[in-house]
Amino acid sequence: MWMMSCSRTLKYEAGTTRCMTAGMRVFAGDCTVTEDGEREQRGDVVVLVKPDNTVLVHDRDGYQPAAWLTRPESLTYDGTTDGSFSLTATDGDSRLHIVANEEHGLARYPASNAGTPVGTCPDCDGALVRAQGAVTCRKCDERYGLPAGAAVLDKTCSTCGLPLMIAERGRAFTLCIDRECESLDSRVREAFDHEWGCPDCDGDLRIVRNGQLLAGCENYPDCETAFSFPAGVVDGECGCGLPAFDTGNGRRCLDATCERAG
Ligand SMILES: [Zn+2]
Ligand SMILES: [Zn+2]
Ligand SMILES: [Zn+2]
Ligand SMILES: [Zn+2]
Repeated sequence: MWMMSCSRTLKYEAGTTRCMTAGMRVFAGDCTVTEDGEREQRGDVVVLVKPDNTVLVHDRDGYQPAAWLTRPESLTYDGTTDGSFSLTATDGDSRLHIVANEEHGLARYPASNAGTPVGTCPDCDGALVRAQGAVTCRKCDERYGLPAGAAVLDKTCSTCGLPLMIAERGRAFTLCIDRECESLDSRVREAFDHEWGCPDCDGDLRIVRNGQLLAGCENYPDCETAFSFPAGVVDGECGCGLPAFDTGNGRRCLDATCERAG
């Protein structure tokens, strides 16, 4: 099935997924495009194959592809050494078949997630971008996971040069995005360890991490009371005596099951 010619510039390996993760492939040419064996279109188009195998066929108008198939189950190339190009993408009952009548160009380019630029990498001078809950460096691939709800600031850490973020955990803490440099957990612990009493015994709540950040009773395991530490800032007291949190979309009790925070 796999007879990829892939032209001068492309080296695909039959039966492997290596080329699938290697970047964005672009073919430009006069193509005949057939969808589900029926709808046929022909024109000078650009065919884009993404690393997840999503195929987009763009003609010259508008933003919408003339044809596409998102993350197909299978993608095969049937090429020949004379540089002609054909591709079949199949997903369930959907099938996209593209045959080149004439080639204008064929190439492969690096691809990454696009994200909001948030500064410059202090290690390599590359661009730092925020995408999918993390800040990553475009150049050296260093990755800094962000706590949920954190906002990256236009200021840098005086210790390491990475951007600072603001994260709300009881208070709005401003700290480095690199947890090796500055730990949000220890900032929360400094602020709230022993700060609140356990509602079920005379112990204090400690700030501990057990998978997630918790406010848990110091008398554990005799008392098993523990609350996962909410995002948001403390906003007075709940009717039950525990702290209430302003989460940005409502007020809630430290105890997620309590309904008296109103
Ligand atoms: Zn870097
Ligand atoms: Zn730092
Ligand atoms: Zn307790
Ligand atoms: Zn409450």
